[in-house]
Amino acid sequence: MNNTLAKFRTYCNSLTKYSRYKTREVFVGETPLGAYNPIRIQSMTTTDTMNTIATVEQSIRMVDAGCDYVRITAPSKLEAENLLNIKNELRKRGYKVPLIADIHFTPNAAEIAARIVEKVRVNPGNYADKKSFRNIDYTDSEYDQELDRIRQKFTPLVKICKEYGTALRIGTNHGSLSDRIMSRYGDSPLGMVESALEFLRICENENYYKIVLSMKSSNPKVMVQAYRLLIRKMEDENMYYPLHLGVTEAGGGEDGRIKSALGIGTLLEDGIGDTIRVSLTEDPEFEVPVALALVNRYKNRENHQDIKPLDALPYNPYEYTKRQTFEVSGIGGNNVARVVADFSRRKFITVDTLADIGYFYDSAFDKWNMNDSAADFIFLGDIVPDFDLPNGLKPINNYSSWKNNKNKSSPLFTAKEYLNNVNLSKDINFIRLGIADLDDVLSEKLKNQKTTVIVLESENLHAMPEQRRVFCELLFQEITNPVIIKRTYNKISLEDFILFSSTDFGALLIEGFGDGVWTECPIIERDLPDNVYIKSFVQKNETYEKTINKILFGILQAARTRISKTEYIACPSCGRTLFDLQETTDLIRKKTEHLKGVKIAIMGCIVNGPGEMADADYGYVGSGIDKITLYKGKEIVRRNIPALNAVESLIEIIRENNDWQEPKL
Ligand code: SF4
Repeated sequence: MNNTLAKFRTYCNSLTKYSRYKTREVFVGETPLGAYNPIRIQSMTTTDTMNTIATVEQSIRMVDAGCDYVRITAPSKLEAENLLNIKNELRKRGYKVPLIADIHFTPNAAEIAARIVEKVRVNPGNYADKKSFRNIDYTDSEYDQELDRIRQKFTPLVKICKEYGTALRIGTNHGSLSDRIMSRYGDSPLGMVESALEFLRICENENYYKIVLSMKSSNPKVMVQAYRLLIRKMEDENMYYPLHLGVTEAGGGEDGRIKSALGIGTLLEDGIGDTIRVSLTEDPEFEVPVALALVNRYKNRENHQDIKPLDALPYNPYEYTKRQTFEVSGIGGNNVARVVADFSRRKFITVDTLADIGYFYDSAFDKWNMNDSAADFIFLGDIVPDFDLPNGLKPINNYSSWKNNKNKSSPLFTAKEYLNNVNLSKDINFIRLGIADLDDVLSEKLKNQKTTVIVLESENLHAMPEQRRVFCELLFQEITNPVIIKRTYNKISLEDFILFSSTDFGALLIEGFGDGVWTECPIIERDLPDNVYIKSFVQKNETYEKTINKILFGILQAARTRISKTEYIACPSCGRTLFDLQETTDLIRKKTEHLKGVKIAIMGCIVNGPGEMADADYGYVGSGIDKITLYKGKEIVRRNIPALNAVESLIEIIRENNDWQEPKL
């Protein structure tokens, strides 16, 4: 396959050389972003905005943790007015942090806030529109009338921002596109971009330029495509506004971190992003270290080894297309991405060892049971087990050991061994390949060997783009062998491992690259961070292999490449939330985590939640004090029921829709 794009236009400075994409500098108070300023970190308070002291104290905790900006919700005029008290109290306590008002549906609150705080965020999907989920067929003149209506509603805010020097974020969310945008562009990255551009053009007509843009989605694939497309479209109109990166409703714990890193990290790898907010269903001060870890990874990135530049692009970075491969023993073709567990650092393995990667031996019945996160391959280095492995788990050995145990496993060759070898396995052969190995001789041999799977490695500091460069070469040369992406990390903390591996694998998977994942991680610091969310995911004494296996399956799920568990779309909560969102999310998770593939949204408020639930199958949405409204897709099925029984009612609805299964004991 060679679908080289006739015109090579990309969305960043380079796909092979790390370089920050330069945007216009915008001052938010005295802290500028964009251009060559550091990537700014921000988060959002979860307190009631009317509670001045609680909001001030939480803001201070966020600043002390490393926030450059603090965002506060202003659902109505009252909260917008109270921003002045919050700002004054912060200044009194010596904190000059710029404040951002978060606005949905209430232009009058925005107009008050713009006179008080340093920046206002509006959502173009709900600033001038109420969503009815109707598909309306607009004529061109009706569409223009709609744009005129928006201009009239939005221009007063722009004029105030201009007068007061207030910055503005046009923050599009995938889940809350207006009916107008949906009817013309669909539920798509292009629709998200057009939604922002409509508002942006109004600003420029007023000669107002202190603008930041965001394109958030709970689906990292959609989010990444939307930002890329936004850059292209802005360049077409000679616009270079700074970008705020975020994955919305990412949830909490490891899933929230994986999803956030996958979306934000993928863009940071290409030098995109001027400010980030990691949005977790956790206290906001826990979001900040995650954001800092993601950003700090790029401090010395420009010193990486050179990667041969691209002068054409053999895939479309604005749409997902899976790279076509042939199948070798269950890898490649139309199979889901495979997971390779690496036990090569062990001296031996036992039957019990395999429980770490999802296989449980039942001695009473002499049979193996497996769970939904059972690895597909196990790399054993030179170990030859003295028991029969479960059927679903295929062993791989170094070529030197395989030679003596040919019918027990599959060989892993170095490129040199592979080129010199005439005696390959007749079933499946793995070859370790780095960018320098792929010469004409090897390319020719790979093309002719329909039993070979590439294990793609990189030691470059800029490893993901180097591996992406190899995928481009494979596409150019029409080499269709399956590829397992392999990464090795040394001396890394657990939290960094979650974030970095999610970025590195996820960035390739959402491009359609990779038929499997494999990581070798010799050292993860065993001291777990002082974070209850991470501690609930990784037990103190669990093995590296078990942790890695869980994370790899989580990455595949977040990239929507392989579904092995329930997906939760949970908002981070804010001053609009009227119930304990973290506690409720935990409770729902405990009761439903065995429902593989079901997507459940837990949203703090009825004003914004339903629009933001994206493609959830079921929704649990706060709709008043002690009141919950339950959704099946976008339809309300129970309105304002008491919170006390709402989780049980949610389960009833899942049951009625045949998505319920009894948990295995
Ligand atoms: S959905 Fe959640 S974060 Fe968004 S406005 Fe409502 S309560 Fe706040």
